Amino acid sequence: MRMIFLGPPGVGKGTYASRIGPDMSIPHISTGDLLRGEIKEGTELGRKAKQYIDDGNLVPDGLVIDILKERIEKPDAGKGFILDGFPRTIPQAEALDKITKIDVVVNIIQKDQILIDKIAARRTCKNCGEIYNLAHIKDGELDMPPILPKKEGICDKCGGELHQRDDDQEEVVRDRLEVYKKQTAPLIEFYKKKGIMVDVVVRGGPDIVVPDIKKAIKNRK
Ligand code: AMP
Repeated sequence: MRMIFLGPPGVGKGTYASRIGPDMSIPHISTGDLLRGEIKEGTELGRKAKQYIDDGNLVPDGLVIDILKERIEKPDAGKGFILDGFPRTIPQAEALDKITKIDVVVNIIQKDQILIDKIAARRTCKNCGEIYNLAHIKDGELDMPPILPKKEGICDKCGGELHQRDDDQEEVVRDRLEVYKKQTAPLIEFYKKKGIMVDVVVRGGPDIVVPDIKKAIKNRK
């Protein structure tokens, strides 16, 4: 199964993909994580990407398409994968069409204000990228309990240090949402036309959304 999780920053794509990937024995591939890995290693590509990421802008298509292509050609992605954060522009989606066939696109939907509140409270493991959330978000029917580490500031999975990503500061988040609307949201129409998209509205924490996504994938027409 080759899937794309599409949705605005902070909607939880990474959290859902990191749970559904292992359940389906397919890798979770995040271009954000790949780029942050390049920055950490101090590669040429990482140096080129850093300023765009810090400013909340998209990294140029050519750079991202190259690292994505290299990643999905690795043997572990042979039976499928979940793409998280790719494609983010129409040219990236067109390039992806040339590289592989996508079976399903999950369009994950959430209100802007909740995304902003969620990202402000997000903490990420510096070492493995695992995601936590310190806030308990409630809005009408919506109830999203926090996702807390067992020990404050320490990743449950690998013992790494938790931190707030520089681009998760509120001013940068607002820019990232604008970038999403202008450059990434047109992909909703692009994939709807292909007839491979399902919509999932976030109505709670991952324990609710993960089964909702699995159901939507299974029941798609
Ligand atoms: P993410 O971890 O998906 O929120 O991505 C963090 C940042 O990495 C984004 O704000 C972009 O600057 C950059 N990035 C990640 N994926 C892409 C992509 N497919 N195209 C362009 N930039 C990307």
